[in-house]
Amino acid sequence: MAISRIRKSAGDSAVGAGRRVTLNPKVARRSFLKISAATAALTGVAMTSKMTRKANAAEKKSPYAGSTKVRTICTYCAVGCGIEAEVHNGVWVRQEIAADHPVSRGGHCCKGAGAIDMVTSPKRMKNPMKKVNGKWTNITWDQAITEIGDKLLAIREKDGPDALHFNGSAKVSTEMAYQQRKFAAFWGSNNIDHQARI
Ligand code: SF4
Repeated sequence: MAISRIRKSAGDSAVGAGRRVTLNPKVARRSFLKISAATAALTGVAMTSKMTRKANAAEKKSPYAGSTKVRTICTYCAVGCGIEAEVHNGVWVRQEIAADHPVSRGGHCCKGAGAIDMVTSPKRMKNPMKKVNGKWTNITWDQAITEIGDKLLAIREKDGPDALHFNGSAKVSTEMAYQQRKFAAFWGSNNIDHQARI
């Protein structure tokens, strides 16, 4: 009952009693096809513009000439699977599975397969941000630590250390998880867990 109410309000996808509900009822099938065709056309224009060109034979053979392979490990969990990172002019440009790694033996989970994105993604956060008047704004580390620290201490003073829950993330490395656990212990609470269990 509750689930069907949520689905209805969110316009979610559901197949029930032989009836299909579209993802977004406002976008009819015809509109969706028009949008798709327009997107494909624009992509085609971009692909054939002067921004791109065919790779020459040497580039096809080795697109990152002079690059070096650096053996490293995935930091997403304690398994420590092997990664072969390709570095070109100081930039991590590609990654391969380290086929002969003694732990992973040529295997990766999906997190490890995208480890390079944690470094090169344009969405990567490089400094603290704060929502000011509804807009995300860069702030200094000093400001972030002071403001968050003051708020935490106020909560602790009012309701005690167990008023807080520390939640780990699948994007947290083994070392960061260790630090989180230590921080919770020094804070005085056992309220710490990993998002995968919640
Ligand atoms: S590839 Fe997956 S299993 Fe291997 S270390 Fe990374 S997160 Fe852990």
